[in-house]
Amino acid sequence: MIPTINPDRLWQTIMDMARIGPTPEGGSCRLALSPEDQEARALLLRWCEPLNLRLEQDAIGNMFLRRSGIDATAAAVAFGSHLDTVPTGGRFDGVIGVLAGLEAIRALHEAGVATRAPLELVNWTNEEGSRFRPAMMGSRVHAADMTLEAALATTDDDGVSVYDAVRASGQAGALTPSPRGWAAWLELHIEQGPVMEATGADIGIVTGTMHARYFQLVVTGEPSHVGPTTMDRRRDSLAATAEIILAVERIALAAEPGGRASATWIDNYPNARGNVANITRLHCDVRHENANRAVAMEQALREAIDLIAARRRVSVAIDPYTTFGPIAFDPALGALLRDKAQARQLATRDMIAAAGHDSVLIAPLCPSAMLFVPSVDGITHNPREYSTREQVAHGAQVLLDAIVALAG
Ligand SMILES: [Zn+2]
Repeated sequence: MIPTINPDRLWQTIMDMARIGPTPEGGSCRLALSPEDQEARALLLRWCEPLNLRLEQDAIGNMFLRRSGIDATAAAVAFGSHLDTVPTGGRFDGVIGVLAGLEAIRALHEAGVATRAPLELVNWTNEEGSRFRPAMMGSRVHAADMTLEAALATTDDDGVSVYDAVRASGQAGALTPSPRGWAAWLELHIEQGPVMEATGADIGIVTGTMHARYFQLVVTGEPSHVGPTTMDRRRDSLAATAEIILAVERIALAAEPGGRASATWIDNYPNARGNVANITRLHCDVRHENANRAVAMEQALREAIDLIAARRRVSVAIDPYTTFGPIAFDPALGALLRDKAQARQLATRDMIAAAGHDSVLIAPLCPSAMLFVPSVDGITHNPREYSTREQVAHGAQVLLDAIVALAG
């Protein structure tokens, strides 16, 4: 007899978590390893106390909350997501993956059900990458996609390193980050797009991800006075960057429906009112369902940058600092999620994830899969991000059903 999750308790847990780092518009801001992130982690631990979970934590602060199984030698079934948010975060992105996992364990605990294999509830450090780049930092280090040393040396815009932040927030664990030999990994997440709502799907079975390529550009011109310097003599890094931003958007529009591209972050020097700017830094990315098309988008971007740089007499250094995907998730796990959803009379839809997720890093390590629940209006990274109590409950129940099937 498989326990059922408690939708009201799950909803209340999500709303309680949202009160940490509240934003005026009703969302949450919990940047990775900030005091708010620390408070969120402490709240999660308080909730776990009555459940007899054992916390294991690694040197980058990834949290593994382990529930013993009947067979102590069996490989664990792991699940979770992230509690950190972007500055304009909502209440659901990442959070529901962790808290639905908590609800699954609560339901098992309440029903007195022991599983054969141990369970591990995971909260990954710095999934969003808003404060420290790259995104999915905790799972990258766990999967040896990035070295621990490189991650710890990364600094935020104020010059604070991950090394210092992980210590200041009390999250530096004793474990060396490394794969934990899981039997399976599952992540429940919101869709963050409009497709499920438009097609009436309750549960999205994520079969794979897009391929994304991220860049930091440094555009260098020459400083000059905004008055006397005639237009033909200028080497204006900010104006050149403006053209590059529009080129990124043009490349994305040409790559629809399978592709996207965005310029998201800018830093301008000297950023002074009397000066033509001479150093402008820009972050951008290109992504596509088809990896070859993503590579072609990068090529188009490089060609556009060359033309803009030559015409404006600026230099552009391109640092392609990270990529993710494409990943194909485990088909057998996808089939299990589909079966469990359909057994609950829920409509499923196979989908590709357009955003990066920790699961992308875990997929090469063990059989992995993701499931989505709808996002109302497809709004995300926004305080208005919303999924209904019922939608979240459906996702949590399918997660629990799959966990029980895998853990025995
Ligand atoms: Zn997320």
